[in-house]
Amino acid sequence: MQTEYVARRLPKFAGRAAWSAILGASPATPPLQGDVTADFTVIGAGFAGLSAARRLVQLNPGAKVVVLDATRVGDGGAGRNSGFMIDLPHNLASENYAGASEGRDRKLIDLNRLAISFAHEAVQDYGIDTNYFDPAGKINGAATQSSHAQNKSYGDHLQGLGERHEMLDEQAMFEVTGSRYYVSGLYTPGTVMIQPAGYVRGLALGLSRAVAIYENSPVTAFCRQGAGWRVETSGGSVSTGKIILANNGHIESFGIARGRLMHIFLFASMTEELGGDTLRRLGGQPRWGITPSDPMGTTVRRIDTGQGGNRIAVRTCAEYLPHLESTEYKMRRAAKIMRRKFADRFPGLGDVRMEYTWSGPLCLSRNDVSVTGEIDNGVFAACCQNGLGTTRGTLTGIAAAEQASGESSAITAFFTGPKKPARLPPAPLAKLGATAYLNWKGWLARHE
Ligand SMILES: Cc1cc2nc3c(=O)[nH]c(=O)nc-3n(C[C@H](O)[C@H](O)[C@H](O)COP(=O)(O)OP(=O)(O)OC[C@H]3O[C@@H](n4cnc5c(N)ncnc54)[C@H](O)[C@@H]3O)c2cc1C
Repeated sequence: MQTEYVARRLPKFAGRAAWSAILGASPATPPLQGDVTADFTVIGAGFAGLSAARRLVQLNPGAKVVVLDATRVGDGGAGRNSGFMIDLPHNLASENYAGASEGRDRKLIDLNRLAISFAHEAVQDYGIDTNYFDPAGKINGAATQSSHAQNKSYGDHLQGLGERHEMLDEQAMFEVTGSRYYVSGLYTPGTVMIQPAGYVRGLALGLSRAVAIYENSPVTAFCRQGAGWRVETSGGSVSTGKIILANNGHIESFGIARGRLMHIFLFASMTEELGGDTLRRLGGQPRWGITPSDPMGTTVRRIDTGQGGNRIAVRTCAEYLPHLESTEYKMRRAAKIMRRKFADRFPGLGDVRMEYTWSGPLCLSRNDVSVTGEIDNGVFAACCQNGLGTTRGTLTGIAAAEQASGESSAITAFFTGPKKPARLPPAPLAKLGATAYLNWKGWLARHE
């Protein structure tokens, strides 16, 4: 039990988050100023924080809920991803996304689908544009025979789980993407393709009827105050009964789960709006999403006007950055690689410019465990989403809200237990090991 938790560092984001930028500006909520009171204070307005706030309101009608974020909603981690809200096992450390066992994968699928239903209900309740929540499914693209074999082994695993999937051949992949790059694909129908910024902005707007959301309000500390807590930002404070930490890897900045979390940064680029002539040269369908059949490969996504423009987004490169900060230099280096990956897939679109390049954080643990549960009296955590933050973040947020409200469910049961994220080796070794591992896996997946 501590009396005070002080943030050693605050989030910094490199590169403009394209998903927000292409939707245009939205009215900002004011930063927190002065002293306010709350029953529950949620720190972080990403998938976990906004889901926690929604669940808190459902379980505690009339309770005062405050959400604080260091940045604008949609500009943080939740607006920097590729928007695949995946229902199936998605183990980034495996050869083909399959998890440790069929039993655990079955359980994860059921939970991921609960998260997707929860998100879908929010979309309906808050009238969020359905273009931002498109249940279109996704394809694991294979560019080589060895990744085609990975797709086949993942298909067998899905067969064992009784999950629908369909193999696409080279021609079918061309008809979907307009690219001759892929030799095959494995289509699975349960993924929802979200416009990440559109979705979280919509959640925040819908919640703002019942919840006080303060953007640009970084939490610098929280300390015990009577039976509750006092949460401090640069401009104000909240006297609160309970706290939910939904700030993903930055939970470690408060000294929690120290030496147990791996902070990986991913990079992404998005093209300029594609004009009519370019679209004719491109061909294919107006919306699709390809995850690489090797988890360390390149994600490519085509969006259309309903989602912010006719554009293609590419995601590749991974760096272990334990201080939770990327740099302009790293972004420029990643931008060149992404440009090359784009040219490999679309040699006929050499004149297309990348309008945006950005990076964002992932928080992983060695044993695929999130940081959840009551970590101090009245302080609950919904952090470390292990890659699949759209779904896992939604789940940890729901779990934290239920635990803070004294409720239990299949979701809280999954996150309750003695398991903690495994300890990492000492810092220099962890950095060396993780960097070598990422470089090696990245090289193996270089064509994917
Ligand atoms: C390029 C890229 C592609 C990705 N693609 C996918 C994908 O397709 N599908 C998928 O599921 N996941 C993907 N991810 C991962 C996903 O974005 C994250 O796992 C997810 O955002 C985590 O959700 P969260 O709510 O836990 O944390 P976040 O979304 O990171 O939200 C945490 C919030 O806490 C705030 N915060 C932190 N510290 C403080 C503080 N002291 N005070 C106040 N606020 C604070 C931050 O500003 C942030 O807004 C991708 C990530 C990247 C970088």
